[in-house]
Amino acid sequence: MSDVIVVGGGPAGSTVAALVAESGRGVQIFERTQFPRFAIGESLMPDTYWTFKRLGMLDKLKQSAFPRKHSVQFFGQSGRSSAPFYFSDNNPHESSVTWQVQRDEFDAMMLQNAAEKGAQVHRGARVLEVLFDGDKATGVRAKLADGATREFAARVVVDATGQSALIGRKLKLTTPEPQLKKGSIYTHFAGGQRDEGIDEGATLILHTENRDSWFWYIPLPDDKVSVGVVGDMSYLLQGRKEDPQQIFAEELAKCAPIQERLRSAEQLMPVRTTKDFSYRASRIAGEGWVLVGDAFCFLDPMYSSGVYLALKSGEMAADAIAAAFDKDDFSAAQLGGFGPELIRGMEAVRRMVYAFYSQDFSFGKFLKKYPECTQGVIDVLSGNLFSEHVEPIFGPMGQMCQMPNDTALTG
Ligand SMILES: Cc1cc2nc3c(=O)[nH]c(=O)nc-3n(C[C@H](O)[C@H](O)[C@H](O)COP(=O)(O)OP(=O)(O)OC[C@H]3O[C@@H](n4cnc5c(N)ncnc54)[C@H](O)[C@@H]3O)c2cc1C
Repeated sequence: MSDVIVVGGGPAGSTVAALVAESGRGVQIFERTQFPRFAIGESLMPDTYWTFKRLGMLDKLKQSAFPRKHSVQFFGQSGRSSAPFYFSDNNPHESSVTWQVQRDEFDAMMLQNAAEKGAQVHRGARVLEVLFDGDKATGVRAKLADGATREFAARVVVDATGQSALIGRKLKLTTPEPQLKKGSIYTHFAGGQRDEGIDEGATLILHTENRDSWFWYIPLPDDKVSVGVVGDMSYLLQGRKEDPQQIFAEELAKCAPIQERLRSAEQLMPVRTTKDFSYRASRIAGEGWVLVGDAFCFLDPMYSSGVYLALKSGEMAADAIAAAFDKDDFSAAQLGGFGPELIRGMEAVRRMVYAFYSQDFSFGKFLKKYPECTQGVIDVLSGNLFSEHVEPIFGPMGQMCQMPNDTALTG
């Protein structure tokens, strides 16, 4: 029997596995693909720095070719931009500069790091189901790379399967965010224009002219840039007869600053689509199991919070698991004790997501009226979600647009 099985070798799974291995427990990761594999989610938040530090990843990232991200900049529907939000304005420390990562390479680095810390990695190994004895998770049944199907027992099963949400879907825990039924179409280009100096690696977030959708523009290594459009599913994907490439081109035609930047760029791969990605599980843990990263919750691509929350929840779950072994207590309360704190941080991002999608809101207007909220906004954009400056911004924000009700875990 293993101490811990981690299902999924993305950023959340690699984080929890590396830290559990480091705490001296035996850990096996099952990853269904043969890395490297394509993944979307390339722009990091600066506060990932602290998890990378703990993981021993900082030197590897510093030596990488991933562009440095100092800021994020928003463009309104008229094409006018806000001033860039520089993370170092709040905190002039090296943790205020982060990376734009090509995910095939980044995820492979993270998984390799977990292996170096002692995790046993099964690549090409799909977990078919998590095994339960009553409410208690006891292991997994997996189809291995050689085609054999085997059962593996463990004291703790960590679900890090991303949007597959293996346990959440099996136990019917996942609930969609009713007002965030979004879809996305995205691809990579070579030769997109970049700004200069410290703005070269900036993430740009741009509304289209009718505000029905928005684009991300994320510089990557080798002169590549990731470009994607996000909009209501009913607008972007369901209500139109054209194929996704055509829809992408039509939305691009409604966003002058992106067109300008892509004027002499070459599209590198067919567009990909994804939809209905915003949901949360009603529980984060049970007897012998715990959810991390997207397997627990994904909000929205808007503020690039996905990888940060994957790393943060992976770190919190690893600490809860280490303490569970020390106390010989594998209950939901022990394994999921970090849930309320994680959710407090997620709610801050969620409220800013709702503000962004509100017709009445723009960061320019908001900060002109409430300049005292600048630090709190930059804290959220940095991933510094637990800072004292964050909570006070939501009173004023609620004056400009409707804030969502907070949601809590049920168990
Ligand atoms: C359109 C879009 C744009 C985004 N942009 C950003 C961004 O700019 N910045 C950002 O931080 N985040 C972004 N995200 C979110 C980000 O991609 C995710 O939050 C992040 O990848 C979550 O990491 P994870 O480890 O939880 O899951 P994943 O990265 O999805 O990893 C899950 C892993 O589990 C494996 N797996 C699944 N099922 C099984 C199984 N049964 N057996 C074995 N293995 C399995 C998968 O192969 C995969 O490798 C974006 C998301 C979307 C939808």
